[in-house]
Formats: sequence, structure tokens, C-alpha cells
Amino acid sequence: MLTKTPQETWSQFLELIGERCSATEFENWFAPIRVLEGGDDGICLEVPNIFVQEYLLDNYKKDLCSFFPLKSCGEPAIKFFLAEVKKKVEPVQEPVSLPQIETNLPDIKLNPFYTFPNFIEGPTNQFVKSAAMGVANRPSKSYNPLFIHGGVGLGKTHLLHAIGHYIREHHKKLRVHCITTEGFINDLVDNLRNKSIDKMKRFYRSLDVLLVDDIQFLQSRLNFEEEFCNTFESLINQSKQIVITSDKPPGQLKLSERMIARMEWGLVANIGVPDLETRVAILQHKAEQKGFRIPQKVAFFIAEHIYHNVRQLEGAINRLGAYCRLMGLDVTEETAEKTLSELFQYAPHKKISVENILKSVAAIFGVRVSDLKSTSRTKDVAFPRQVAMYLAKEMINESLMRLSSAFGGKTHSTLLHAWKKIAGQVEKDETLRRQIDMARRNLEA
Ligand code: ADP
Ligand code: MG
Repeated sequence: MLTKTPQETWSQFLELIGERCSATEFENWFAPIRVLEGGDDGICLEVPNIFVQEYLLDNYKKDLCSFFPLKSCGEPAIKFFLAEVKKKVEPVQEPVSLPQIETNLPDIKLNPFYTFPNFIEGPTNQFVKSAAMGVANRPSKSYNPLFIHGGVGLGKTHLLHAIGHYIREHHKKLRVHCITTEGFINDLVDNLRNKSIDKMKRFYRSLDVLLVDDIQFLQSRLNFEEEFCNTFESLINQSKQIVITSDKPPGQLKLSERMIARMEWGLVANIGVPDLETRVAILQHKAEQKGFRIPQKVAFFIAEHIYHNVRQLEGAINRLGAYCRLMGLDVTEETAEKTLSELFQYAPHKKISVENILKSVAAIFGVRVSDLKSTSRTKDVAFPRQVAMYLAKEMINESLMRLSSAFGGKTHSTLLHAWKKIAGQVEKDETLRRQIDMARRNLEA
């Protein structure tokens, strides 16, 4: 039997992965990896930065183990090499020599607590966190722009400020400016009124890193959209880093096609609702920061009842902490229930189960429930199965571990892959979006 070359094995690995992840994910994380010569008993991969390596090992370790020889410790025999920075392509910029432009433009103060170490990682935000760290480490050289989207209170502003802190600390010469979209619009209005618009333009165009929070507020502000788009383009054309947050993916924003296309140029990353274990870890971290300990049991109790929004988890900690301190009480499930009951989100009347999701998805896609539960990998079955996994993760407030076992012993990473893939696709595919909405309505009815 002929043995495969590392390059062939890698190509096969990519084929498998290509079916599982979104095009953007593939392009950003897999396409830049090169197979190097050498490596007698394994494979040598060149990665553009350390985050690509970590991403690969965090998310695809099992697949790597099944494709490549293993070391005695059970790890895949892969040697990683960081690609050299090509100096010629990236002219050294000397922002220090730029004339300091006097401005009275308000700079948003970065929240001192919103740092990377304070951001708790879990399966639904790992990807976006490592992308943010990639950008902070090598501004304008990894993903540009980085577009972070997700629901309210899930940590978008936290990550944006974390990038700002990191760059200010590690790349002291770079000029970083963080604004809210509202702030940008207000600046623009003021400067138009004071006829100082040129000064404002010069200021924005002299930045090295622009962090923009809540771009959704640019919707239906036509006059401002154009100026924003010009600023955006002029920065990107000079390879300056831009990071944007939004409550929706670019394609769902009511903005011009030009603006949407610009925002999709780089990496679009979703920040999801943290699963139960991550919520517990966040609660414990926040409590510790505020100087009190919260027993594991109580943390689980709170995290089971507050699940859409991390900001509310934090509110819960503050309230519970204050109450127990004032009243001299212990932090228990009873005190938690008493003080927090109005914050608690009670599940809809009808409890949604994996079984119901399978039924609903089977009906919509014209397949049988038994097929969805089988191990069949034909596309007709595999795709609806992934949709069902996506819905289960979105609609059922359970840990990934427990959910995946309800799918007949699938692993938690299979479920996560399915969720990521469908979450990526649903942003672009109108038909799929309608099918998923239909399933949701059926289930919630
Ligand atoms: P968004 O901008 O998405 O509405 P924020 O960034 O303002 O949300 O986050 C809301 C609160 O939740 C902040 O206090 C933030 O520190 C906290 N938070 C969100 N996600 C995490 C996380 N993964 N780890 C720790 N804290 C988090
Ligand atoms: Mg925010």
C-alpha cells in the first residue's frame, strides 16, 4: 500500500473540514495554513500566528488525531511553525512622526474590567475571543476588519475594549480610538455645525486602530453612513485595523451594499449565548472580583435561571452580594431565589425536548426521525440532523454534554460543529432561515 504524503493527508483533512465549517471560517483559519517539507513521522504546518494553531488544536484535535500519526503521549504528531513576517509587504509605519492632531473629539474610556483575562471562555465564544486576541497581537496583520456580532449582553463591548487595552499596552506607538456609533454620528453633527469637518476627517484618518461599538445604530442614518464608509475605506486602504461590533451579522443590517461588503471583507465572528458551565464560571469569576465567594450549588442555581444575558448574571451577583451583606445572611439557594426571582427567566410553558425538535425538523425536511437518529451520513439526512442540533443548542437550556448525548451518543464537538456551521449558513441563506423560523414557531406554539 502506498503511504500518503503529508500534503495529501492534509488535503483530505481540509476536504472533511470544509464540509463542516462556514466558508468564512475556512478561509480565515484553514486556508492560510501551509504544509512544509520534512517531518518524517508527522507533519510540519506553517501557521500565520499562534491563534490559528490554538484554534486548530482546540476545535479539531480529535479529527487531527484520526488523520495523523500520534505521539506516545496521544497528541497528534504535528510540528507548528510560525510564518515569518514579510517585511517587504508590510512597510514599517511610524505613527510617532505623524503630526499630533489637536482635537476635542471624545475618546471613550475603556472600561478597566473589560480585559482578556476577565473574559471567560466557553464553546460559544472561544472562536471570537481568539480572533480578538489575534487582532490585538498583530493589529492589521491578521483579520481586518474584525466584525463581532451577537445578542445583547454577551460580551461584544467587553471584547472590543479588551482589544483596545491590549494594543495600548503592547503596541504603545499605535493610535487607538474607541467610539460608539452614536458617538461618531454626534461628532459628525458637531463638526458639520462648527465647520470643522476637515479636522475631524484628518483625525480619524490618522488613527492606527479604530474600534467601533454597535454599528447597528448606523442603520437608516443615510447621510452619516457615507461618511462612515469613507473613513472606513481610507483606514483599511492604509492597512489600519478596524474592529466593529453589532447586534446582527453584516448581511442583516439595513445598510448599503457597499458598506455591507466592506464589513464582510475580513472576519465575521459570532458571539453566542454561553452554555451552563460557562455561565457558572462567569458567575464565580465576577463574584470573586467583587470579593465574595459563591458556592458552586448556588452558582448553578442562578445560571440555570438566567441564561440569555451575561449582564443580568452580573446584576444578579451584585444584588445577591449586597442583600446577603446587609442582612448578614449566607449565600444559599434560598436567599438567591428570594432576591433574584424577578430576574429569573422561566422556560416557556411547553418544555422543548430534543425529541420534539427532531420531529419538527423531520417534517420540514421530509425525512424520518429514525433517519435523523441514525448514523447515516448521506447529505439528505446529515444536513437536517445538523439543523436539529443547531436548534437544540439554541432552544434548550442544557449543557452541550447533555444535549449531545440526547442525539444518540454524538460528541459535544460534533454538536458544536453543527451549530457553528448552521449559524454561519443561516446568515446568508434565506431559505434555511425560513425553515428554521418555521421549526421554531412550531416548537414554541
Ligand atoms: P454587549 O456589548 O454584547 O451587549 P457587554 O460587553 O457589555 O455586552 O457585556 C455585558 C457584561 O457581561 C459585562 O459586564 C461583561 O464583562 C460581561 N461578560 C459578557 N461575556 C462575558 C464573558 N465571557 N466573561 C466574563 N464577562 C462577560
Ligand atoms: Mg455593547
